[in-house]
Amino acid sequence: MSNPLYNGLFAAHEGKQTTFIFDSLTKKEVSYDAFLKQASQYANAITQQGLQPGDRLAAQVGKSVSTLALYAACVQAGVVYLPLNTAYTLSEIDYFVKDSGAKLLVCKPESAESMAEMTKQYNTILMTQSDDGVSGTLPDAARALPTEFSTVDRANDDIASFLYTSGTTGRSKGAMLTQNNLLSNSETLKEAWEFSEDDVLLHALPIFHIHGLFVAVNIALKSGAKIILEPSFNLDRIIELLPSATSLMGVPTFYTRLLSDERFNRELTQHMRLFISGSAPLLAETHVQFEQRTGHRILERYGMTETNMNTSNPYRGERRAGTVGFPLPNVELKITDPTTGETLPNGEIGLIEVRGSNVFKGYWNMPEKTAEELRSNGFFITGDLGTIDDDGYVSIVGRNKDLIISGGYNIYPKEIELVLDEQPGVVESAVIGVPHPDFGETVVGVLVADKDIVDLDKVQLAVKDALARFKHPRQLVVIDALPRNTMGKVQKNILRETYKGLFTH
Ligand code: ATP
Ligand code: MG
Repeated sequence: MSNPLYNGLFAAHEGKQTTFIFDSLTKKEVSYDAFLKQASQYANAITQQGLQPGDRLAAQVGKSVSTLALYAACVQAGVVYLPLNTAYTLSEIDYFVKDSGAKLLVCKPESAESMAEMTKQYNTILMTQSDDGVSGTLPDAARALPTEFSTVDRANDDIASFLYTSGTTGRSKGAMLTQNNLLSNSETLKEAWEFSEDDVLLHALPIFHIHGLFVAVNIALKSGAKIILEPSFNLDRIIELLPSATSLMGVPTFYTRLLSDERFNRELTQHMRLFISGSAPLLAETHVQFEQRTGHRILERYGMTETNMNTSNPYRGERRAGTVGFPLPNVELKITDPTTGETLPNGEIGLIEVRGSNVFKGYWNMPEKTAEELRSNGFFITGDLGTIDDDGYVSIVGRNKDLIISGGYNIYPKEIELVLDEQPGVVESAVIGVPHPDFGETVVGVLVADKDIVDLDKVQLAVKDALARFKHPRQLVVIDALPRNTMGKVQKNILRETYKGLFTH
């Protein structure tokens, strides 16, 4: 029997009575063995519906033990697992089901009625997973089925998951991730971050993105660690649970929110081994404050749906603020000139390209986009801009799509945002380019600020002191909150759309 991902992540735990998941809502401990049995029942349930290896199973379900069992069942049955954001509306789900050709859609019982017509149209089977899945119970269809399932053969290069990107820069794309992509990254990260079966991972991320699913859950599976499964990031609950954990994986907003609470201190975190941050840039200020408050230095890493993790600050060694660390073992990373594709010397800003066993097989149904971004030599053009310093630390400068070209100058929004963020009253900022009749594009600074403190004239003066003239925002606007997606990423395309007419009429 050969199924590298099942063998590498799941099979070793068969019969193991130690806890895999502590479901923090129901306070139930689920052993590795019980989890795998549940997964096998699910594998029986989905194959009984006629699903064959390579078929897609889409799931818009809650964050629960059962949902993770569904993922394991898909791996065991060789079915492609396609998790969907719980915030998606019916019309969005319609798009993903149609686009992926999903043969089965699992949804919450309360959504079944609204999904029924759509699934019928695409000949997609509809199953539900009840909310009491949170407590680890099985849906009716699977409960009576055998807890054994004969694992389906799969090759390294077979697709294990379609994972849709976060849609920060436009419509989400279905990244085809192979068995080996997922397995090799879990091995690399377990080693890099020194996870072991003594670890207790506090898990408050969604489980439909690369971060919460194929980084966090797979690391626990790879190392035999325990997961505390929290439905979402709730400050009070996280503070209550931290003393039982050894590690936390989060997005930057987790850390700013923790710092906003006085209960979050050295004592509360003394058992913690590791705080990891990714998915969006961590502000240097958060880094500093976090260390002052707790004595821990956050470990920042960089990854994406298409490549899993690319770089990480070292577990042992200097975690350098403002950087995402070094390329992980088995990941080749270079910075290239966007026009010529040539590799640039250290210190220069260019496109980040990566190659390795972590790099996906391509976008589903998008051969042209795949060909544009996946070079024939195996390097993937990430769409992020970055630099490498002389010590080898990689920094993310922003997304290529957010680069502003004004009057022939390349302007990197981050450089301006760093200055804006330091000004009194400014909480955060996003700098965008908007169309301008003379310059092609011009700079607009969007601020979230305390209106009683902030003085926009003084902000402009500070920018003038710090930056060359062509980088000065032509206009500053103050809004209540930056538009963000579920991972806390700023959606600059929405801001560009809002302010596109500022200088054109
Ligand atoms: P889409 O591709 O649909 O526009 P997305 O790129 O946000 O959405 P993801 O794959 O979830 O979808 O996110 C990957 C991106 O997140 C990276 O390309 C990078 O821009 C950003 N990112 C991840 N980690 C970091 C980090 N530590 N610092 C800065 N940016 C990061
Ligand atoms: Mg992307």
